[in-house]
Amino acid sequence: MPLSFLAPSFPVLLINPERKIKMAKIQMTTPLVEMDGDEMTRIIWKMIKDKLILPYVDLKTEYYDLGLEYREKTKDQVTIDSAEATKKYGVAVKCATITPNAERVKEYNLTQMWKSPNGTIRAILDGTVFRTPILVKGITPYISTWKKPITIARHAYGDVYKNTEMVVADGSKAELVVTDKDGNETRQLIHEFSGSDGIIQGLHNIDKSIGSFARACFNFALDAKKDLWFATKDTISKKYDHRFKDIFNEIFENEYKEKFEKAGIEYFYTLIDDAVARVVRSDGGYIWACKNYDGDVMSDMVATAFGSLAMMTSVLVSPDGIYEYEAAHGTVQRHYYKYLKGETTSTNSVATLFAWTGALRKRGELDGNAELSSFADKLEKATIDTIEDGVMTGDLYLLSTLENKTKVDSETFLDEINKRLEKLINA
Ligand code: NAP
Ligand code: MG
Repeated sequence: MPLSFLAPSFPVLLINPERKIKMAKIQMTTPLVEMDGDEMTRIIWKMIKDKLILPYVDLKTEYYDLGLEYREKTKDQVTIDSAEATKKYGVAVKCATITPNAERVKEYNLTQMWKSPNGTIRAILDGTVFRTPILVKGITPYISTWKKPITIARHAYGDVYKNTEMVVADGSKAELVVTDKDGNETRQLIHEFSGSDGIIQGLHNIDKSIGSFARACFNFALDAKKDLWFATKDTISKKYDHRFKDIFNEIFENEYKEKFEKAGIEYFYTLIDDAVARVVRSDGGYIWACKNYDGDVMSDMVATAFGSLAMMTSVLVSPDGIYEYEAAHGTVQRHYYKYLKGETTSTNSVATLFAWTGALRKRGELDGNAELSSFADKLEKATIDTIEDGVMTGDLYLLSTLENKTKVDSETFLDEINKRLEKLINA
């Protein structure tokens, strides 16, 4: 039994009776994979659909409930099924989900500490995560030269995240030993410890994963029509980091060079320290591919410098061009507990809303459905206009330099977006 269902489709209406909208509902030919989630983002998820999508689009989704209760009920099979469905349909939109820890095991009475859904989905799709900030007037990046978003792509396999390390006693000799499939050993001295105790660490990566990462980055750059930057420390790490540089270079030369020329974009390789210096003095507008550790550190730096995690979108892209859109933030647990007590919340729905628009636009592109893509553009414009008109949630209210600004609750914010969306659609 599939754990999903196809949302029913309704007949085309010439005038939309639910609102004063002078348009028929936009039809979809292929479903989106919809992955529902947890806590405050689950509440916002439904509000976005009810207020901003369903009145305009005859939405077709294949629905998977990745809320923790249903993951427990299906022994996490629902997560695997949703990833497989994404492979089938090519586009998914995902709500934030709880990654269980010891506290959550108690809170939700779990039989197991289920793995992070994002990790499971990423492994099945062999994907790379691209994070891009949404820029609005009034929220000024801490780095004043940044005028356009910087997208960070993080290689999510190996290096220090799959390391083996040891504390080594004085007088020991540490060696790197590789045994090949015939049993032959190759040895290399790491260090002879004399005069002090010390530490050692073994790292690895695999060509296949680096290649997938490279292809996801080149594809995404073509899709976004933005330059791609990549950097390592190949002058110091002449085998390890150099391998990353070589694989990127080889794939670019053989598979992407002409496509990049046609698209008028560039692939730019430099040393990591040079890259950091150039990023800081750039005006933005490119994709920065990072090795695993660099991506971990730099994505937090870039997110903070652009203003707010609630304005950061995230998309998982597979090397063969499958897209899963989501917000970069979590389930906003603290707001959810307020919501449960009946208190007013002012949760920012922008990144979740942009996950929906990203997925709808991509679906439109793949299906040749220009109306659907254009609706996504309008919904994004209405959202940015709302904030630039001074209407915003509490997190942005604290940051915004606009003179006339109003803090609104979660629901009013979406209603305000809808007012502007109606105008854009009727124009
Ligand atoms: P979080 O949900 O990102 O929220 C941390 C804090 O950031 C919030 O308490 C809030 O600050 C602020 N914030 C984040 N998003 C916001 C928004 N949309 N609007 C307004 N404020 C926002 O991180 P967390 O509380 O550490 O994690 C909660 C759960 O999310 C965890 O169970 C974790 O496993 C999960 N998680 C999931 C994903 C994912 O699915 N991709 C990613 C990260 C975390 P204030 O409280 O100060 O208002
Ligand atoms: Mg980090």
